[in-house]
Amino acid sequence: MAQPFQLAELPAIEGEVATDDASVAHAAQDWGHLVQARPLAVARPAHAADVASIVAYASQRAIPVAARGAGHSPFGQSQAEGGIVLDMTGLSRVHAGNGNEITMDAGACWRQVLAATLPRGLTPAVLTDYLDLTVGGTLAVGGIGGASHHHGTQTDIVTALEVVTGTGELVRCSPEVESELFDAVRAGLGQCGIVTRATIRLRPAKQRVRRWTLYYDELDAFLEDQRAVVRDGRFDHVQGQPVADSEPGRWRYLLEAATYFSLPDRPDEDELLGELSFDRETAESQDLTYHAFLDRMAEGEERLRAEGDWFRPHPWLNLFLPDDEVESVVADTLAETAGADLGDTGLILLYPVRRDRLATPLLRVPATDLVWLFAILRTGAAYDPSGAWRMIELNTALYERVKVLGGTLYPASTLPMTTKDWRDHFGDDWQTLEVAKHVYDPAGVLTPGQRVFTAR
Ligand SMILES: Cc1cc2nc3c(=O)[nH]c(=O)nc-3n(C[C@H](O)[C@H](O)[C@H](O)COP(=O)(O)OP(=O)(O)OC[C@H]3O[C@@H](n4cnc5c(N)ncnc54)[C@H](O)[C@@H]3O)c2cc1C
Repeated sequence: MAQPFQLAELPAIEGEVATDDASVAHAAQDWGHLVQARPLAVARPAHAADVASIVAYASQRAIPVAARGAGHSPFGQSQAEGGIVLDMTGLSRVHAGNGNEITMDAGACWRQVLAATLPRGLTPAVLTDYLDLTVGGTLAVGGIGGASHHHGTQTDIVTALEVVTGTGELVRCSPEVESELFDAVRAGLGQCGIVTRATIRLRPAKQRVRRWTLYYDELDAFLEDQRAVVRDGRFDHVQGQPVADSEPGRWRYLLEAATYFSLPDRPDEDELLGELSFDRETAESQDLTYHAFLDRMAEGEERLRAEGDWFRPHPWLNLFLPDDEVESVVADTLAETAGADLGDTGLILLYPVRRDRLATPLLRVPATDLVWLFAILRTGAAYDPSGAWRMIELNTALYERVKVLGGTLYPASTLPMTTKDWRDHFGDDWQTLEVAKHVYDPAGVLTPGQRVFTAR
C-alpha cells in the first residue's frame, strides 16, 4: 500500500514541486470534467533526470505517479489520487533535426513540433485534429488523424523513444534496441514508462491545401465514397462527419477531403472528385496554407472558449468499427441519438483507415481491411452532472454493442472499464502487456488513472 509521503522527503529536482491548492486542483481536473483525483504533489521536471528521480522515489514507496501532458484526456487518465503528477509541459524542447527526422521532449505539443519542421520544408506525416496535445499524451494512445489512411497513427511514425521506466531507469528504445519496451510504450497508456523524448520520421511539406466539403444525403453513398478514396489514396486527408439536419431525426453526411500542393502545381479537381456521388449543389472548396489547414480547430476553440463550452463536461467516446458492421452500427446509433445525447456543440466523426497502415502492437483495431474511427464527442451541459453521467451510460451501451461485433475501443475515451474489460480489449496482447508491466513497473505505480491494472 502507498505510504503517505512528506514533501521534504521528495528528492531534490532541478524543476519545481508544488503542493499549493491551485496546482493540485488543476492536476485533479482534465478535459472531461467528470472525475477528479487529487495528487499530493505536482512535480514540474526540468529534464529527464528529474522524471527519473521522482519515479524512482515513487516506485520505492509504492506511490502512484502519472505524467500529465495537456490534460486533454477525458476521464482521469492523467490523474494520480494521493500520488504525484508529473506536469510534463516544462519538458518541451524541440531539438535540432537531422535529415528527415526530428527529436522533441515529450511535453512539447504538436504545434511546437510543426513550428520547428515547417521552416525545414518538412512535416510530421500524421497530426491530430488539434495541435495543442502533447507528444507524450498522443503517443500514449496512438494519435490518429485525417492522414492516417496513408501513414497510420503517430505511434507508427516514431523511430526512437527515451523512456523512464517504472523503476526510474532512463532507457533509450527503438525497433532495434530494447524493442519490447518500445512496443510496450507506444499506445501503452503510460503503463510501462514515461516518455521523456521522441524521435519521429518527417515528410516533405507542401505549401498549400485544397479542402473540399462534400455533402451526402444517404449513409451508404457516403461510406462507399470514403471507402473508394481511402483505398486508392487519391486525397492526402480524409475525414467524415454525420451532421444532424434541421429536420429532427434526419442526418446528412459531410466528407472533408483535402489535397496538399505547392504552386505552380494545382490539384486536378475533375480527376479527384470525378465519379464521387456527393451533392454537387452544396459542395464547397477552399484553398488554405498548409499550416492554416492543420490549425483548422483554432477558430472553433476560440468560440467554444468564449461561449464556455470548452470548459464543460466532455464524455467523449472513440471506437473503431469493423468495415462489415459500420453501416448498421452507425445507422442504428444515429437513429437513437437525439440532440441532448450529443450536447449543443457535440459532434460525430466517422472515417476509415486502412488496417495495413497500422503497425502499433498495442493499438487494438478490428480485423477487417478497413477500420472506421467512430468518435462520439459529446458535450455535457453546465451544472448537470446527472446528464453527463447519462451520456457515459450511452457510451457503455454502445461499446458493449460494438464489442460483440468485433469493434474496439480507442482509449482516449470516457468509459468505465474493469480489468476484465481491459483484458478483453488487449486480447492476445494482454499477456505481453502484463509481463511488460511486471518487468518495467514492478511496483505498479505508473499511470493509475487509466485503471488498466488497478480496476476490478
Ligand atoms: C480537442 C481535442 C482534440 C483531439 N483530437 C484528437 C485527434 O484528432 N486524434 C487523436 O488521436 N486524439 C485526439 N484527441 C485525444 C487525445 O489525443 C488524447 O486524449 C491524448 O491522450 C491527450 O494528450 P494530452 O497531451 O492532453 O495528454 P494527457 O491527457 O495529459 O495524458 C493522456 C494520457 O497519457 C499519459 N501521458 C501523458 N504524457 C505522457 C508521457 N510523456 N509518457 C507516458 N504517458 C504519458 C497520461 O498519464 C495519460 O494517461 C483530442 C482531444 C481533445 C481534447
